Amino acid sequence: MKTYLHLLVLLWFGITLNGYGQDQVLQEVQFSKSELLKHCQSLSSDGFQGRHTGTKGALKARKYIINQFHRQGLAPIKKDTYTQLFYFSERGVHYEGANVLGLIKGKTHPDHYVVISAHYDHLGVKDGQIYNGADDNASGLSALFSFAEYFKNNPPNNSVVLAAFDAEELGLRGSKYFVMNPIITFAKIKLNINLDMIGRSDKRELYVVGTRESEVLRQVVLSIKDTGKLHLKIGHDGGNWKDDWTLSSDHASFYKFHVPFLYFGVEDHADYHEPSDIYENIQPDFYYEAVKTVIKVFSKLDSSQF
Ligand SMILES: [Zn+2]
Repeated sequence: MKTYLHLLVLLWFGITLNGYGQDQVLQEVQFSKSELLKHCQSLSSDGFQGRHTGTKGALKARKYIINQFHRQGLAPIKKDTYTQLFYFSERGVHYEGANVLGLIKGKTHPDHYVVISAHYDHLGVKDGQIYNGADDNASGLSALFSFAEYFKNNPPNNSVVLAAFDAEELGLRGSKYFVMNPIITFAKIKLNINLDMIGRSDKRELYVVGTRESEVLRQVVLSIKDTGKLHLKIGHDGGNWKDDWTLSSDHASFYKFHVPFLYFGVEDHADYHEPSDIYENIQPDFYYEAVKTVIKVFSKLDSSQF
């Protein structure tokens, strides 16, 4: 299956590997750092009550994302709604979950899709304490808005679905539902880029998982220059690492159906799944660099097809 996957990716991107030596494609990636930070701060504020699936806080987050997608001119993926509702039970509790999905039509390959995803749910309130989930995952979610902003001046060649998934913390429920009920033709989804915890790293390390299955993806990642502000590291992919993240977040739902993926995230920190995962512990410069880096990777892949 690995060889098959690799071939698929190679065919789709239709490129030679030596094209990645230089940074020929990219100008400076442009989007507003202050907007990025503002969204992350808002979504991880107490008003959202930790965004636990099915709660008022989650509903508030859902509305926030819909408003933002609308404001940024994204098309709903279904005819008249950005929302994909789904229902499930977990430990005897019934939940209504809602993925929020926005679409940007590709210029040259509108029938090919890249799904850029981030979960918006978190742990909610436990024992009276709010789990704000700033890094996990207001950081990844807010980056979707930066992507939308970037696409205004840099429309993608391939169609892009910006996917804010619900119920990741309850077992990747939203992304599972999406791949089982994809709305768009599943076979046309060429890649998933998943963002989960990209807002801080004392070592300035952003990990990327998913390149082990694809030499093409690996070469693109390796071609990103180290600016010194952020170190993009390949790892946690089941190679030499004990700590394999292949199934750790929503990209796993795509991986299980053999869709190539790139997952971006940082190593767990002291505030991981703690009430102290708050906006004040986000590192703005690292976070901004992380989003720029992911956009660069996307842009290289998107423009390498022709
Ligand atoms: Zn997460």
